[in-house]
Amino acid sequence: MVLGSTGSIGRQALEVIEANPDRFCVVGLAAGGNHLELLAEQVRRFQPTLVGVPTDNSDAADRPVLDELDPQGTVRITGPNANEELAAMEDADVVLNAITGAAGLLATLAALKAGKTLALANKESLVIGGALVTQAASPGQLVAVDSEHSAIAQALRSGRANEVRKVILTASGGPFRGMTRAQLADVTPEQAMHHPTWNMGRVITINSATLVNKGLELLEASLLYGVALEDIEVVVHPQSVVHSGVEFNDGATILQASPPDMKLPIGLALAWPERLADVARPCDWSVGATWTFEPLDEQAFPAVNLARRAGQSGGTAPAVFNAANEVAVDAFCAGEIGFVGITDVIASVLEEHLSGNSGAELTVESVMEADVWARHAARLSISRLQ
Ligand code: NDP
Repeated sequence: MVLGSTGSIGRQALEVIEANPDRFCVVGLAAGGNHLELLAEQVRRFQPTLVGVPTDNSDAADRPVLDELDPQGTVRITGPNANEELAAMEDADVVLNAITGAAGLLATLAALKAGKTLALANKESLVIGGALVTQAASPGQLVAVDSEHSAIAQALRSGRANEVRKVILTASGGPFRGMTRAQLADVTPEQAMHHPTWNMGRVITINSATLVNKGLELLEASLLYGVALEDIEVVVHPQSVVHSGVEFNDGATILQASPPDMKLPIGLALAWPERLADVARPCDWSVGATWTFEPLDEQAFPAVNLARRAGQSGGTAPAVFNAANEVAVDAFCAGEIGFVGITDVIASVLEEHLSGNSGAELTVESVMEADVWARHAARLSISRLQ
């Protein structure tokens, strides 16, 4: 089951699946409805039992494409519960959640509740759902797709849980690595969309430029592997060949390396705990290469510290962090705020939340309420910046 099949991760996952027909078949596909032609083509190619489009784009121009989604017995599911229905579909063994943003939370919970193995690209659902997600998962049920978390999972195979001293979370540093906060003031969305090492969807590309993505990944790593936030160190590694690792208590550090290609962690997540042969190109040791590592400039890129603060505060603070960011990214792409405005908006909304919130109990409803509140607060904050 591939949720978010028309996106960057979804399309690469379908390539991995297509290259391993003895191993996988696609029983369901879902997407947000913005690329219906592509979704229709995927339905023709993979002939799933179900196809889901949560937002029934009933726009007249889209209607013929939507109708075309039901060839040869594929059943189309539309409406707000489509993702959850697909995630719990009986025939699916593995659900890949590659939806972008907070919209993926209910599908994550539905897949776990239905006992599916969840290959999770949609880190936002884990970050905002927190313990709701981790407590719904039985051991081994939740497998990370993020290259960093896949690397950490691979490194963790090298020792026992009580031997782990810290997690090393690598970051490319994004397209603006080395710039000061003053220099960042004038960068454009086009420049932010040019990631030096990865080709990804819009939100995660902007999040990589602001380092919000690394903040989300910090929280993700803590939740996935039960490591305290203070025991996770972010290290900038511009080449994106070393994808993260684990330092053990004897002083050994185990890192995972491979050229930047999401097919490797996607393949490993789909087949976990096994590896698929020849999913991606390995490092070429016959040519010279230099790998560099440097500390993160927290003044220019405050997002990781903001995420850490949200994680330490707990409750619905991570949901507020994420929602404020999603709104601020849209505003930046629309030219309403500058680049540094993104983290300024997150900081202001998070502070407002923490100063007024005594710690609501974490439930799906409280997460949704915090998400709605933070989006509203972010819009107010954006209007003050304009
Ligand atoms: P994209 O923007 O490329 O794709 C997002 C996908 O989600 C599209 O198929 C979109 O459909 C679909 N979608 C959006 N809203 C909904 C919804 N409400 N219901 C169902 N489907 C929906 O994003 P990416 O593939 O880059 O990222 C997906 C997730 O994976 C994110 O959480 C990201 O952080 C994570 N990730 C991505 C990496 C990458 O290399 N791209 C690396 C590691 C993690 P449509 O556009 O057709 O409407």
